[in-house]
Amino acid sequence: MDLRCNKTNCKHNQKYNCTAREVHIAKNTDCQTYDRDFAKNASNLQDVSRDMFEIAPEISGYSHSDKLCVDCKANCLFNKMGKCNANGITVLESNKKGFCGTFIEE
Ligand code: SF4
Ligand code: SF4
Repeated sequence: MDLRCNKTNCKHNQKYNCTAREVHIAKNTDCQTYDRDFAKNASNLQDVSRDMFEIAPEISGYSHSDKLCVDCKANCLFNKMGKCNANGITVLESNKKGFCGTFIEE
């Protein structure tokens, strides 16, 4: 499971990758695992995006775990018995929590 996340002020976000072991997506597609990191301020976040363009995630020393499990309660095409079976998902920025942008209504 490849998870890209634009919610860069989340504690689990590392250069647009999610480092959480498990992610929970709610019925309305919000990321319930979102945990705001108040140490990530505007100037830090600028550094994050600069890093992203300088060093691709694959060679930055961080590789995503294939074991990432996404539990999901949304009524989505990729939802199989409460688990996401998409090859990858993208979590998008919103006013509050991030939300799953890969959602396709079943
Ligand atoms: S908002 Fe959700 S998907 Fe994004 S880094 Fe945080 S826990 Fe992971
Ligand atoms: S793609 Fe669908 S099943 Fe997978 S996390 Fe997003 S909303 Fe849930």
